[in-house]
Parts: sequence; structure tokens; C-alpha cells
Amino acid sequence: LSKDRLLSRPRYRVVGEQERFDERDNVQSRGTLVPGTPDYEEFYRRHPEWKAKDDAVRALPGMGRAGAAADLPFVGAQHGLLADLGREDRVDGPVAPTRLQMSPERATEKVRGFAKHLGADLVRVGPLNPLYVYTHVGKTWHDPARSFGQAIEVPHGNAISLAVGISLPMLRTGPVVAEVAEIMRVYVRLATMAVTLAGYIRALGYPARAHIMSNYRALCVPVAIDAGMGELGRHGLLISKELGSALKLAIVTTELPLVYDPPQDIGVEEFCEDCSICAESCPGGALSQGEQKVIRGVERWAVNPEACFAVWNETGTDCGVCVASCPWNKPRSRFHRLMVEIATRKRKAGWWMSRAHKVFYGRFKPVSPPRWFEDGDPAWKNVKKYQRLL
Ligand code: SF4
Ligand code: SF4
Repeated sequence: LSKDRLLSRPRYRVVGEQERFDERDNVQSRGTLVPGTPDYEEFYRRHPEWKAKDDAVRALPGMGRAGAAADLPFVGAQHGLLADLGREDRVDGPVAPTRLQMSPERATEKVRGFAKHLGADLVRVGPLNPLYVYTHVGKTWHDPARSFGQAIEVPHGNAISLAVGISLPMLRTGPVVAEVAEIMRVYVRLATMAVTLAGYIRALGYPARAHIMSNYRALCVPVAIDAGMGELGRHGLLISKELGSALKLAIVTTELPLVYDPPQDIGVEEFCEDCSICAESCPGGALSQGEQKVIRGVERWAVNPEACFAVWNETGTDCGVCVASCPWNKPRSRFHRLMVEIATRKRKAGWWMSRAHKVFYGRFKPVSPPRWFEDGDPAWKNVKKYQRLL
């Protein structure tokens, strides 16, 4: 990365008071509430505004329930492993009583090297902003060591962000089981490496905790942006120079002294201002085609999580059309690497690149899953009724 694009602080603009987020308010956490239980009653007493919408989503087929019977276990088998890796006694644990002394530079080199060796495509180190730590547990994954509404504190100052790239041919299959099977593969890999890395750091004598898909205590996207992994896109996800937004994240928070990577400016905001392909392609109309707004104290594009989650529960997958349709997520050919280089350097490249993308690639068209998936996945049929523009 050339020096002129390294920043002393992240590019996003904090223009109001930032508050910590309660994981219970997350639309996926709300989706786990069972009508008639004390947690359900207590939650909707505090949030009656969400009850009708959430109950309507609960009546849909649900995540992991739409798809061919011979393919759904591709997801279920990985889901079970993720649940196991997310247990409290796996993501965290006892710290070795003696601290091994090491310079922050050497510790960073070791942590980065080990994470890459374990399979991380991108590794960045940055601060853990306490504002990005959830206030309360929203998803327990049936782990008896966690309870809905349990208060959260993460007393660590540093965060190691890990990213693994999503296979583009699988991502482009659209909201079908093949897509979600690939996403689960990426989450399992991230979970394995984050849990292992946290265990390594605790063995050196420093507290460390893995934050993985089945047990987050912090918001991975802003933490990874603060560590210089990329910038926030219109679709509400991180866009990196190396992998676009076709990636998933995990973090390891720790007290091990480390050297931070600087945030970076790769021109995502300017690109997204001129491009709204993700918003035009979204089957649920969940993404904004307009200007940025102030959301929880930060200027960003609005995302309607309820509309998105309805598509997930109709198709039984996590959809991914916004990511699959994004011009940053192209095969890493020499031509596309050149385009990324131009996009990161030329501030107005987004205008003509997004138009060129529409001319050459047209609107998002799903590709066929590999032959080891069943033909005519019913999940895709379900999403048709949401489709406005595909
Ligand atoms: S995952 Fe699908 S429904 Fe959700 S925002 Fe992206 S395109 Fe829209
Ligand atoms: S599709 Fe376009 S607007 Fe959406 S995140 Fe990608 S570059 Fe930004």
C-alpha cells in the first residue's frame, strides 16, 4: 500500500454520540426468540414496535429449512461444528500463569504469521474500541454458559482481525443452499483459526478471546475497519482491496501488546456514491439507493435488516446477492486487479466502472451450483416473489 493512502484514523465520520449495540436487538437474535417464553415476553414488552414484523418472519420457512433434502445437511453439519467451536470454554479459557516477554513488534510478527499459516487470507491488527463491544448477549446457540440478556464486558485493548475469502463461483449461485454451504465453510475455517490463535496467546500468558460467528462479543466490521482491513460499503459490509467484500470476518481480542496497522483509504466511499448495484439487485429492497444518513452517530448508508432477514427466512439461506453483484468482487484476473488499482487511486472511477460493469455483466444472474447439488433448488424459487429487478 502506498504511503499516501495510509491514514492516522479511519475514514468513516463520527458526527454524533455513538452508543454500544445490544446484540438482543439484532434481527437474527430476535429470530431465535420462541413465542410464550419469558425472554420473548420480556423482549417485546420493551420493543412492541418489532413484534408484528418479527412474528411474520417467524412464520416463514426459516434459515436452513428451505432447499433440497439431500443438500440441506451440507449446511447443518457445518452449523453443528460452529456451535461447538463457539462454546464459552472454547473461545476463551485459562491464561498461562507466567507471561512470556516479547516486544510488540515480535509478538505481532508471530501472531500474523501464525494466523496466515492457519489459513487467514487477511490479517490486520488494531485497537478494540469499547463502543464496538456488545452490551448484552443476544444469541446463545444453546450454550448453557450463555444466557439471553447476559451483560458483556471485554476488557481487552487490542483486536486481531482475520478474513477468509468466499469462493466466487459458489457465491454467485444466488440465494440457494450452495451459497449458504459455502458461507458456512468460511465461518468454520475462521472459527477454527480464531479459537486456535486465542489459545496460542493465552498460552503465552496474556488474556485472549475469539469472536466467531457462533459467539461474537464485538462488531467485527468496524473493528476490522479500524485495523485497516478496508472500508464500509453501501451494502453495510467491509470492502477490502484484496478480496472486495467477498469475505467473512472473525476477531481475536487480547491484552498481548501488539503494533497496529494503520487504517486505509481505498476510495470505497466515492465508488459507492456513484454505484448502487447492490441496492438495485437486493431482492428484499433492503439497501438504500440514496444518500448516507447519520445512524448511531456515524454517517453511512442505511440498511433495513428486517427486509433482509425476511429474504433469508423465505429462502433458508443468507442470500448474498448484494455481495455477489458488487463490482469489487470479481475473479482476481490481471484485468480486474488493474481495475481495483484504478478504483483505489482515481476518486471518480466508480462512476464509469459501475456503468461499465452493468454493460459487460448486466444485472445479477445466478450461476448453476456444482453438479453435486440437486437441480432446481426450491430456495431460489422462493426468492422470485421478492425479485424486483433481477
Ligand atoms: S443479503 Fe440479500 S436481502 Fe440481504 S441486503 Fe443483501 S441482497 Fe438484500
Ligand atoms: S455494489 Fe456498488 S454500491 Fe454496492 S457496495 Fe459494491 S461498489 Fe458499493
